[in-house]
Amino acid sequence: MSAVVIDGKAMALSLRAELARKAAAFTARAGRPPSLAAVLVGDDPASAIYVRNKGVAARAAGFDSVEHHLPASTGQKNLMALVARLNADPRVDGILVQLPLPDGLDSGAVLIAVDPAKDVDGFHPLNVGRLALGEPACVPCTPQGCLIMLRHQLGDLTGREAVVIGRSGIVGRPMAALLVRENCTVTIAHSRTRGLAEVCRRGDILIAAAGRPELVRGDWIKPGATVIDVGINRLPAGIGKSRLVGDVCFAEAVQVAGAITPVPGGVGPMTIACLLANTLACACRRTGIDEERLLAGRPRP
Ligand code: NDP
Repeated sequence: MSAVVIDGKAMALSLRAELARKAAAFTARAGRPPSLAAVLVGDDPASAIYVRNKGVAARAAGFDSVEHHLPASTGQKNLMALVARLNADPRVDGILVQLPLPDGLDSGAVLIAVDPAKDVDGFHPLNVGRLALGEPACVPCTPQGCLIMLRHQLGDLTGREAVVIGRSGIVGRPMAALLVRENCTVTIAHSRTRGLAEVCRRGDILIAAAGRPELVRGDWIKPGATVIDVGINRLPAGIGKSRLVGDVCFAEAVQVAGAITPVPGGVGPMTIACLLANTLACACRRTGIDEERLLAGRPRP
């Protein structure tokens, strides 16, 4: 058996196209585009690339996107002052603070300072709590992208057995909360889990978010299961070269799973698309515009 390979790139492109149509309709109604403010502190090259890619994607979809780049020497007070300014700016709908922050800065204090109504990353404790309670919330982008792919592949998820490897606040925990909201029976596994392979074999749905290259082997997977590989691991591949692998051994898993996301080209592209979706949702809530009706009466392209 060879699994269906879920094309996250194509799904993200189609979601971004829909968001661009919605952003145009929002701009016509509100008199301004939905707007995202990104805060980058320091010179971490990976963070700079992430922030740049998010800005490019936002502008390509007709959003306004402003990047605030502060030096690594920025103090907590100045960073908090910038967040307070963005909170108070009526033209800013979404704020993201790129993590990790340089040593010496308290990321918890910064994240709690972001207005929960502009919290497009879904990291504010109020949004974390709302998600845990099953209430409407800003949901972290990566698990939201995973859920869209699962729904697309499986339809209604009710009653399915789901196993999530990883319990971080960015991926594992919110992913598990979303799956509970979808009426799945959820197991969260982590580095202290005993008999991980056995636990994984229970999953009709298996989400791998451990940050361990090719941790999940083919014989850990229930035949026919849907496997979402969140991991992004860079391995050396010859002199001066590297390759990306996920947390799942793709070559083995594709023989057993019913469907699987590749790395790259699976979860990654959906994460940025979901950031735009969150920004538009915040913009609509803040302006009282009904997102559901944004495209009403408009012909589909
Ligand atoms: P963290 O390091 O914050 O969390 C990793 C989790 O995996 C922890 O809960 C840890 O357990 C668990 N874990 C680690 N090793 C094992 C193991 N051998 N067996 C079982 N559980 C294990 O990582 P993140 O959640 O931030 O990210 C996870 C992966 O997803 C990374 O590869 C990251 O690059 C990727 N990622 C991809 C994104 C995308 O857009 N595609 C976005 C965000 C992340 P414990 O809690 O016990 O330490």
